[in-house]
Formats: sequence, C-alpha cells, structure tokens
Amino acid sequence: MARYIFVLGGVMSGIGKGVSTASIGNILKSYGFSVTAIKIDPYLNVDAGTMNPIEHGEVFVTDDGLECDQDIGNYERFLGDPMFRHNYMTTGQVYQSVIAKERAMHYGGKCVEVVPHITGEITERIEFAARKTKADFVLIEVGGTVGEYQNNIFLEAGRMMKLKSPDKVLFIMVSYLPVPKMIGEMKTKPTQHAVRILNGTGIQPDIILARSAYPIDAPRKQKIAIFCNMSEEDVISAPDIESIYEIPVNFEKDNLGKQILAKFGLARRKSDMREWRALVRRIKNVKKTVKIAVVGKYFTTGRFVLSDSYISVIEAIKHASWRFGFKPDIQWLDPEEYEKNPARIRELEKFDGILVPGGFGKRGVEGKIKVIRYARTRHIPYLGLCYGMQLAVVEFARNVAKLKHADTTEINTQTPHPVIATMPEQEIHLKNKEYGGSMRLGMYPCALTEGTISLKAYQEKNIFERHRHRYEMNNDFRETLEEAGLVISGINPQRNLVEIIELRGHPFFVGTQFHPELKSSPLKPHPLFREFIKAATRKKKK
Ligand code: GLN
Repeated sequence: MARYIFVLGGVMSGIGKGVSTASIGNILKSYGFSVTAIKIDPYLNVDAGTMNPIEHGEVFVTDDGLECDQDIGNYERFLGDPMFRHNYMTTGQVYQSVIAKERAMHYGGKCVEVVPHITGEITERIEFAARKTKADFVLIEVGGTVGEYQNNIFLEAGRMMKLKSPDKVLFIMVSYLPVPKMIGEMKTKPTQHAVRILNGTGIQPDIILARSAYPIDAPRKQKIAIFCNMSEEDVISAPDIESIYEIPVNFEKDNLGKQILAKFGLARRKSDMREWRALVRRIKNVKKTVKIAVVGKYFTTGRFVLSDSYISVIEAIKHASWRFGFKPDIQWLDPEEYEKNPARIRELEKFDGILVPGGFGKRGVEGKIKVIRYARTRHIPYLGLCYGMQLAVVEFARNVAKLKHADTTEINTQTPHPVIATMPEQEIHLKNKEYGGSMRLGMYPCALTEGTISLKAYQEKNIFERHRHRYEMNNDFRETLEEAGLVISGINPQRNLVEIIELRGHPFFVGTQFHPELKSSPLKPHPLFREFIKAATRKKKK
C-alpha cells in the first residue's frame, strides 16, 4: 500500500515548493523506493493550457497530452520518470467531474456537497494515481499557501486521509524564514503563524523545510520546535543555493530521508546518491561560460522580469552546458526592441547561440524574424522551438525562397504564401472557440532523415517528442522551400507532417515543431540542446 506525503506551503508562495517536492522524491528514490508526485493547482481552470505564461509560468506538456503546471517538469527532471494526467489536479477538474457525475445520477439522489463529495473526489484521484503507478510513495504538492481560501478543500481531503490511515500520511510544510536587513536575524514568527493556521485546519506538520537565505541554526530550530509542536530534528535546513539540483543533497545533510522513513515506521536503509552527487560536483566545477540569447515575449511583468515562463528551456540549456563544463550566461531579449530599433540587432553578435522558444500571437513576431535572419546570415548557432521553428520557416521563405509576403496564418490569414497553416481539424476548433486542450498535444513519433544534424544528434531514426501547437508547416510549400535549400530532417510518419527543419552550410541551425526542452533532464541532456550548445561553445572558441 502506498504512503502519502502532502507538501504544503507556509508564509508565502514562490519559495520553491515544487523543487522541494521533487527533491523529496529524488531522496526517496535514492533509498530504492518508487515515487510518484501529484501537483494540485487550486484554481478553476481545468488545465494550465488556457493561461498566459506571465500569469502562471510555463505550460508543461506530458506524453499523454495534458497541459499542466511547470512543477510537473521539476518532478520529471528530479525523478527521471515521465509524468502523466494522473499527476496533475486542479479545482476545475475536480468540480467538473463531480458535476458530471451528479448529472449522471452517480450519487444516487443524494444532496451533493463540497464535503464529502469534493473531498471524496480529491482522495479518489490521489488513490487512483497510487494504484496506477504502484508507487511506494505518492507526493502531493498543494499549490498556494496555507490560510488561503482556495486550497483549503485539499487540506481537508488530506486531513481526512490522515484520519483514515494515520500511519500512511505525512505532512511536510515548506516555510519561509525572512532575515530582514534592518534586524540582521532570521525570524521564525511568520512560520509559527503559518503552523497555527495549519493547526486550525486540523493538520500538524510532521516536518518543516526551513527556506531562507541562510541555513537555519540551532536556536531557531529550537524555537520552531517549541512553538510549532515538533522535534528539532524535524526542522530541515533549506538555504538558498546556486543550483536547484543541489537541494536533495542539502536536505540529506539534515537527514530528511531518515526522518521520513522513521515517521512511517520503515526500517533504516542505505541510500545511493552517487550519480546525483556527481552531477552536483559537475555543476559546481564549471569554469567557462557560454553566452546564450533567449528571445521571447513572456518575460516582463511591470518592473519585474520573470524567467518562469521558459523554465524548461532554461533548464535544458543548463543541462547541456554543464555536460561540456560550461556555465550558461542566459540573457532574455525582447523581440519588440528590434522592431522599434532595428540597428540594435547587432548586439546579437556577442552571443554564442540564439534560441527562439515557443510563443503565440502577433506581438514580437517581426522582431523574432529579424533575430532569426541575423542568426542565419551571421552563422550564429540557432535553435528554434515550435514558434521558433515556424518563424524560421517564414524567414527562410521570405528571404531565401523569395516568397516576399510569406507568413503564418496565425498572424495573417490573407497571405499569398501561407507557409505555416492550420490543419483542418484545428480550423473547426478555432471556429467553435474550442480553445481548451484542443491543440496538437503530447507525444508523437517522428522519423529522422539520413545525413542530417538531427539524426546525428539523436543517434536513432525514430524518436518521440512532445507537441503543443495549432499550426504546422504547410506541405504545399515543401518542394519550393526544399529547392531553395531548406532541409526537412524529421517527419511525422502517420500524417506526413514536417517536425524538424535545418540548414546546411551553417554551424547549427535547427527548428523543431515539438518541444525538446520538455524532455531534457540534468542526468540526460536533450540531444538537440547538446548539439546546439556544442556548436555555441565552438563559436565562442573562434
Ligand atoms: N503559435 C504556434 C502554434 O500554435 C506555436 C505554438 C508554440 O510555440 N508552442 O502553432
């Protein structure tokens, strides 16, 4: 029977609950257990697909085509296993299915209520994931912070699960301990308050992960222990560190794994973190830097710059760079700047590689096309992901194949040269405003062409990659573009769709219709990112 660990947030959001959850999983795996993890997002959206990345960060996609929270990406990167639909739950999903069941008389004429029906649905979903994966441990990360109205119902479900099986359920709270400048001391009070609030829901945290700029010291551990009703060894130090991949190693310094096993009454056993520790050493030992420009529009919100919108891209760049002993110096560039001020494009010369990630809509598109043109003509290694591939096709069509007004129909439905266009089933979705969960989503096969950069990178002919898009390269233009020199290096065999394009006579110019970044992990950098970074380090040498 599975054991359940709920991971809750105290004090404030954004303190790394996702990577903490992923790290707990990583540790338990190192003890030889199988682990799965569920992310709960307490909002009414059914999935993350309809949200702007500036609102909610990157939309991650699973093999089975669910658009979900970026934390699922953290789970995959730390656990090394693929996640699926059952690894993600939102309030919207839960209500949608309870209401559908009510309409189908599933509750046999009963009055359907938040408790016990919504809580029951939540528990069922958690238990379903346990059955499906047969995991020894199911981690359940509850989004938001304790005390919020929105996530209370999930805490209530957790409380009821604990009541039913006290020895099978654990609560870990990730809390924040500020060190205010004017005091110069780490303060535990906000955490004490967060625990009180949690107590008010009937839950006592078993373990606290003390997130702070610094490691927590003995006096503060004592304070938390006394005021939060726990023992000092259950307060685990979680200071800021340079790389998130060091977190599992750091937690283990405070014996997190041992504490968890002890709380479940499991016998002590040895852990094997050798591979992961070697990774951490490798990350710490990087000396040289490689300069990569990421050109996207989902970066700024007011006066603040977010990198969450492209987290998998950024992590994939890091994974590949570390492999070669490089530290990536990643800069976010706003494509609209090059529309306003075309001469600025020259600043791209100083980069060793340029990447245009996925995107939607009109804003910044012409700027991105300028960037791609610069990368192509100046021989700067280029990797285009999804929109970054589609716009590379548009750029090539306009400037090399001389189809002057070539465009994607996402931007211009009247273009005489729709080199990127929708598939017929997508037209229907658009017409009917069926936007949610209706793109080409999830894993599809792709057959690679002999003699291409792509085949050389993957070293296998048939690959599987994850998609999220409505538009495709238009096969009506394939011949024209190929004649002009575009190399089509990957094809979806079922529907004859172009999945990868590249250029010859360029150090590295590759565009993928899919999202390779979603399948990169620190122990296994993605082959295309690896080759892209390799080419970038070569440019650097020159
Ligand atoms: N907007 C493009 C499409 O829908 C690309 C999507 C993406 O980059 N993820 O096809």
